[in-house]
Amino acid sequence: MTHLLQVNDLSKIYGSHRVADSISFELEAGTSTALIGPNGAGKTTTLSMLAGLVTPTNGSILFRGQSKPDIRGSIGYLPQYPKFFPWLTALEFTEMAAVLSGVEKTQALTEAKKTLEFVGLGDAMKKRTGTFSGGMKQRLGLAQAIVHGPELLLLDEPVSALDPVGRRQVMNLLKELQQKTTILYSTHILNDAEEMTDQLLFLRKGVLVENGSLETIREKYANPRILIEFESIAEAERFAAISPWAVEKVKKHVSIDALQEGVGTPEVVSLLHTESLPIRKVELQTASLEEIFMKVVVEE
Ligand code: ADP
Repeated sequence: MTHLLQVNDLSKIYGSHRVADSISFELEAGTSTALIGPNGAGKTTTLSMLAGLVTPTNGSILFRGQSKPDIRGSIGYLPQYPKFFPWLTALEFTEMAAVLSGVEKTQALTEAKKTLEFVGLGDAMKKRTGTFSGGMKQRLGLAQAIVHGPELLLLDEPVSALDPVGRRQVMNLLKELQQKTTILYSTHILNDAEEMTDQLLFLRKGVLVENGSLETIREKYANPRILIEFESIAEAERFAAISPWAVEKVKKHVSIDALQEGVGTPEVVSLLHTESLPIRKVELQTASLEEIFMKVVVEE
């Protein structure tokens, strides 16, 4: 089967700095993928190479199996800091973007209007972009990226710079777009990745360190633990002494690695009951995406 995008061994080296280091992954048509990593991980560089704006030092990018696709026509790209001509209206700008991306001149105005309505700028399309707020600019940026109906949408930190209201609006738009096109977007905000993702790519210092679905990665790094909070330190100590499982004890808290043989919340609760040990709470904890992020791409 031909993948929509196949990236093999992609590297970018500036001087002696490997900004992208032998990155390989595939994107299937109709999916959404989040490229996740802290600042400086190489997300922008990777997306720029895919958008044809930065020449790779090494490696190949195949779009529907082709190494020289019509990038402008097939791909829509939203840079991290989109720039507009402040004297143009949103409609003029989007129409221009449509023509540049290969839309017929006679169709460009119609497509631009339709797209601006879709991104919620219908009422502002005749306004000069210089007067636009951050949220409006981001929606206009999205409009120029989708006006030609690309098969693949590359979005560099599409919501990071927005306030909560702007973020919600753009996220909702992206969720709608997800129904129509394949999306690869970068983010360091994990809630966004959780909300809209089939595949997660974790980038750390230019290296793709993890690639999988949210469920697979969650499972792999879940690190499930049963946490018990006792009424007093003495009870925590008593439990630790009689526990058939290895435990970690910190003051009134005892935690048990839930991957150990024969341990589960029912067994723990049953032991607490038999020993009549008073507790404040028992809970099963799993790593949040935030903790997984720290573990996979941040911690040394
Ligand atoms: P991210 O988008 O994850 O924040 P970038 O791709 O912007 O990461 O940058 C990754 C690293 O590459 C950074 O250390 C950055 O300074 C470096 N870098 C990016 N572009 C260039 C360039 N044109 N010349 C030299 N170094 C660069």
